[in-house]
Amino acid sequence: RAKEAGKNRYAFYAARMDAQAQRRLALQAALRRAVDRRELTLAYQPKIALADGRVTGVEALARWVHPEWGAISPGEFIPLAEDVGLIAELGRWVLSQALADAAAWHQRGLGPLRVAVNLSVSQFADGELLANVRRALHDSGAPPSLLELELTESMVMRDPEEAARLLQALRALGVQVSIDDFGTGHSSLAYLKRLPLDAVKLDRSFVQDLPDAPKDAAIATGVIALAQQLRLEVVAEGVETQAQRDFLRQAGCDQAQGYFFSRPLPAAALVEWLQAYRREGAGVEREAV
Ligand code: C2E
Ligand code: MG
Ligand code: MG
Ligand code: MG
Repeated sequence: RAKEAGKNRYAFYAARMDAQAQRRLALQAALRRAVDRRELTLAYQPKIALADGRVTGVEALARWVHPEWGAISPGEFIPLAEDVGLIAELGRWVLSQALADAAAWHQRGLGPLRVAVNLSVSQFADGELLANVRRALHDSGAPPSLLELELTESMVMRDPEEAARLLQALRALGVQVSIDDFGTGHSSLAYLKRLPLDAVKLDRSFVQDLPDAPKDAAIATGVIALAQQLRLEVVAEGVETQAQRDFLRQAGCDQAQGYFFSRPLPAAALVEWLQAYRREGAGVEREAV
């Protein structure tokens, strides 16, 4: 009996693995077509200066809506794109689309609205980044000061000396650089001192239980103080409530983004949100989802 049950369990497990592997294979093929057919879009989430409520910029977030399967999250398709060698192409597309939108907003006088683009691991390491950024800036006509690049701790820690050189070159173009999901990776504080950075983004995991969780409050306050001392901007991620916003503002956090202000929006909806936000002030925040 026990043997039988074990066998069944194995069969069940194998079937599930099989289903996962099949989903992966199907997604890979679909992603190839998606990149070719431009099924991908960008959503933009505003970043807010906590001192005065001003919109400082937006983060570009990739979206994929498959015609049959619906929305697939970037948490799933970005790693997939890395694995199947599509990330370079996808990364170039994100950069050029984000800059085209930023240039258009700039021309319409909606700015200055800096657009932050997330980089993937291989995009940061493949030796093409500087040339790609330069070309994308040139093609879009957007001033370099409208571009920010978000990277993670693991990307810069892999080869900190090389990373520092690359960041320096990007900053020499006039592009801003920030560390995403700060506090979740393996970074050495020693490198914070040496890397040419503009901002750190306090990870959502330290924000979600504010203001009541004492340990998260301590981490958030500590990161903000550290960043201030190092002359870095701090951007809090995943702010969903007024209490979180108030705590962060009180603690001296410079900027925040999250559902409390707005979900990531398609470009056209972002423009409407911006106009309403500026017309009605911070009161529009809650309705903006
Ligand atoms: P991230 O860069 O840390 O982006 C923040 C994520 O938090 C986004 O998820 C955003 O939609 C979500 N978010 C924003 N505010 C809130 C909030 O108040 N509450 C909650 N629960 N979530 C919030 P998303 O869009 O699913 O993206 C997930 C990750 O995928 C991103 O994390 C980023 O690492 C990656 N990603 C997204 N777009 C791109 C891209 O174009 N290129 C690369 N390389 N990675 C991307
Ligand atoms: Mg990001
Ligand atoms: Mg993040
Ligand atoms: Mg994150």
